[in-house]
Amino acid sequence: MRVHNFSAGPSALPLVALERAREELTDYAGSGMSIMEQSHRGAVYDKVHEEALGLLRELMQVPTTHEILLLTGGATTQFAQVPLNLRHPDQSADYAVAGIWGQKALKEAQHGGKARAAASSETPEGGFFSVPELSSYQIDPQAAFLHVTSNNTVTGTQMKSFPHSEVPLVCDMSSDILSRSIDINQFGLIYAGAQKNLGPSGVTVVIVRKSLIESARKDIPFIWQYRTQAAARSLANTAPTFSIYMLRNVLDWVKSQGGATQMALLNQQKADLLYSTLESRPDVFKLKVERDSRSMMNVVWNLATPELEKRAVAEATAAQMVGLKGHRLVGGMCASIYNAVPMASVEVLCEFLMSFKA
Ligand code: PMP
Repeated sequence: MRVHNFSAGPSALPLVALERAREELTDYAGSGMSIMEQSHRGAVYDKVHEEALGLLRELMQVPTTHEILLLTGGATTQFAQVPLNLRHPDQSADYAVAGIWGQKALKEAQHGGKARAAASSETPEGGFFSVPELSSYQIDPQAAFLHVTSNNTVTGTQMKSFPHSEVPLVCDMSSDILSRSIDINQFGLIYAGAQKNLGPSGVTVVIVRKSLIESARKDIPFIWQYRTQAAARSLANTAPTFSIYMLRNVLDWVKSQGGATQMALLNQQKADLLYSTLESRPDVFKLKVERDSRSMMNVVWNLATPELEKRAVAEATAAQMVGLKGHRLVGGMCASIYNAVPMASVEVLCEFLMSFKA
């Protein structure tokens, strides 16, 4: 039996991608062994690696000006690797802070270099209920880059458009990558841990403008330089082969469903249904996020008291809906409705919300 999985990440994967892995697990493509047991330098794995890269390029419409890297260490490692590569010793970097992940990214960048907040949507009480207005950004024209978080997983806010500036735009897209069509040309660098919209944990996708790789610092360890993995097709060392194999399976599924445009359409329908259901019971459910900043991926709401929230989570869990407890920093409830969460799961959740007795 499969549950309705609303976890923030790792999160639901498309059933067909999992079933394909099960079928192929012990004998991949007639090789007599699993994909996990293959050399990362062998022809069998190489085909999977190239397929994953090719599908990412196709589905995200990544232009030839940009390289796609498959790295390890999660988005948190990119908090360090981005400034390490792109910020030269005399430079500063700008950050738009719209939630705890943006705060963490800025803190990491301030460790051993200059970085500052160019925009923030933090309230005086320390909450985040919107993303910063683009007109409020105060960008340093000399900054090495401007870092934004496209979707704030914990607080449930999402950027609908991106700032235009002379400095390269870097985006943490961990929780909404491939959930909608995006013009990659706007970005100098995009990164995302795979474990929300792309696959299991273990692989981190980095899409980076080739000219930024060329001008990046050379006085840092080779393995941290983007150019090292770019020159080696992300095979400078042993790649996370099974995670990349699952990434390939998930991307194949996205393609079969009609790609990013179709994902966006379905995601909008799921989010509309969930938000309107919550709005229909304002006496029970409180939506604190400003309407224009609402995330299509992570829907966050509160009930009157923490006790009531606890009971709602427990009743939902008993009814096979898991992962609905809000992040410990914001409390409440959070339903993550990434690409692989079907409309049917959102419908079951909405029925539950309609019948919940407060
Ligand atoms: N950025 C965002 C927006 C996230 O949601 C997360 C994880 N929830 C991270 C960064 C950290 O990712 P990782 O655990 O892959 O380092």
